[in-house]
Amino acid sequence: MSSRIELGYTADYHVHLRQGEMMDLVTPTVRDGGVSIAYIMPNLTPPITDIDRVVEYKKELQKLAPKTTFLMTFYLSKLLTPELVAKAADEGAIAGIKCYPAGVTTNSQAGVDPNDFTAFYPIFKVMEQKNLVLNLHGEKPSTHDNGEDIHVLNAEEKFLPALARLHKDFPNLKIVLEHCTSKAAIDAIHEINKDLKQGEQPKVVASLTAHHLFLTIDDWAGNPVNFCKPVAKLPHDRRALLDAAVSGKPYFFFGSDSAPHDLSKKSVHIGVCAGVYTQKFAIAYVAEIFDKIGKLDMLKDFVSTFGNAFYEMDESKLVCNDRCVLVKKDVDIPEVMTFGDSKLKIAPFRPVDKLHWSTEWI
Ligand SMILES: [Zn+2]
Repeated sequence: MSSRIELGYTADYHVHLRQGEMMDLVTPTVRDGGVSIAYIMPNLTPPITDIDRVVEYKKELQKLAPKTTFLMTFYLSKLLTPELVAKAADEGAIAGIKCYPAGVTTNSQAGVDPNDFTAFYPIFKVMEQKNLVLNLHGEKPSTHDNGEDIHVLNAEEKFLPALARLHKDFPNLKIVLEHCTSKAAIDAIHEINKDLKQGEQPKVVASLTAHHLFLTIDDWAGNPVNFCKPVAKLPHDRRALLDAAVSGKPYFFFGSDSAPHDLSKKSVHIGVCAGVYTQKFAIAYVAEIFDKIGKLDMLKDFVSTFGNAFYEMDESKLVCNDRCVLVKKDVDIPEVMTFGDSKLKIAPFRPVDKLHWSTEWI
């Protein structure tokens, strides 16, 4: 393998850039991490549910990172109407809508009941017509009361029938099962796409993070830096994710789910925040694990070609046409990232580790 690999217009189709000071600090790290196109999550406080706010948020991000192309989303909630969604699509204000089951992760209190999506069917209908993407956080909330034990290890698997039903009811709606963590989810995505013909675009896809390609349950039990939702699962699940990532199937692509929290919200004994921060070295992490299994030749498809095809992104839609190049160059991950005078600190994924690839722009 050459020591330089041209990756094209790299894209991260699941990014949390937060708001306020945290936003100011992490937004420029999208480009540092080798990412050209960032698909932005709407779980701010309050969640993003109107056009003015999403336009304003994008403007703020663009000012902080002029060379990064931002794709924006709404937060699926009862505040949305089919008319509003249609208008947002027509104005190009959003590329998709993120659906959070109520209560499963950071700022998801305003989310929906994943046992019954029918209240949102009029919105899904409009999304299907307008070619908007539905981004699903695919977990059922934990419950031990109704005879159906649901917990962090099976929450994703228990959600999969709801995914299948949605696809059946809206066969032309583009759906992403975000941050897949289980073999069951990978199998479900393969199953839905089993009749996909060569060159045909899939309707139902899955995004995969960098950290879930490394982690299993042993890595986060007792380690808050590695704790995220959905949690990393068992070794056979991790193997299934890695196989999917290097499979060359167009329905698996990169979405980092990089989710920064101040260290003070990670290093606590009550209420540890879920989220792993990978943005600063996003592409390098993926390259590291692909290289380890001798699959670097599959990297460009995973971090660039497949996601961009699904989201119909091309050169003409970018704010900057710089292309990302992976270069063989060691980089040391700091123990903690600090930012000038700011009091905020972020613990990056794999602190004090060394990565063997980094990224440049041409
Ligand atoms: Zn997320």
